[in-house]
Amino acid sequence: MSSLTSPLIELKNLDLGYGANRVISEMSLAIEEGEFIGVIGPNGSGKSTFLHGLSGILPPSNGEIRLFNKPYSNFSRRELAQVMAVVEAAETHTFQFSVGELVEMGRTPYLKRLQPFSNQDREAVRKAMEATEVLALESRPINELSSGERQRVFLARALAQETDILLLDEPTTHLDLKHQVESFQFLTQLNREHNLTIICISHDINLASEYCSRLLIFKEGLIIADGSPEEVLTAEVLESVFGKHFFLGNHPQSGRPFVINPAKKK
Ligand code: ADP
Ligand code: MG
Repeated sequence: MSSLTSPLIELKNLDLGYGANRVISEMSLAIEEGEFIGVIGPNGSGKSTFLHGLSGILPPSNGEIRLFNKPYSNFSRRELAQVMAVVEAAETHTFQFSVGELVEMGRTPYLKRLQPFSNQDREAVRKAMEATEVLALESRPINELSSGERQRVFLARALAQETDILLLDEPTTHLDLKHQVESFQFLTQLNREHNLTIICISHDINLASEYCSRLLIFKEGLIIADGSPEEVLTAEVLESVFGKHFFLGNHPQSGRPFVINPAKKK
């Protein structure tokens, strides 16, 4: 196989876990360049563990992950960070940093020790802050922001990293309705215009259905459905995963599957 035809990321019989607790078992998966993948599943089903495996933070206990048809072990931390940016689930640490300083950290993978920022670095930081509408917050301490503002700042840091791949863990959790939709619209724009490959964990199945090209449905560390929203979002799959019956409709504009909660009992 030439590397031109191999997937961007390939998981082969991957086991991931913590000590004796195996969370992900024998997972095999191919992710192609330019995909916008939504990862759906109940709490504790292994979604964040999967993302930590993909980002290289959590080394597999078995199997392997390949990037550009090369094993992860061939890449240094710095090389990996030039290819892949991560927005962790609601980062709660209390930071001493200002918004501007945090976004600037996105450039770390490109800087040599003690090397000052180039114009290119400054431009990447400014563009990322502008796109996520956090420029006005630039000098504010990160721990004095609302959760939603903070989430946008972490997205800005990831964008400043200028990578091919973006991994996001529940990026819209703390956002209001407008910012939730705008986040997905913005990710779609990055996906289309910059060919950014996006893998995004979300509890908002309806937004994921509308904006993602492919959904992975997690249950107990396994992907039990993998396909387009139309293929995987069925009442059977949702009941099997969440243990509850949900109704499905179609979005009035796009026709994409839309999940409807059961009505209250009379
Ligand atoms: P999800 O993101 O789908 O809610 P996680 O991947 O966070 O699920 O968790 C999957 C399982 O792994 C859970 O049983 C959780 O308790 C366990 N787990 C997650 N992180 C750790 C950790 N750092 N150490 C030990 N167990 C963990
Ligand atoms: Mg999680």
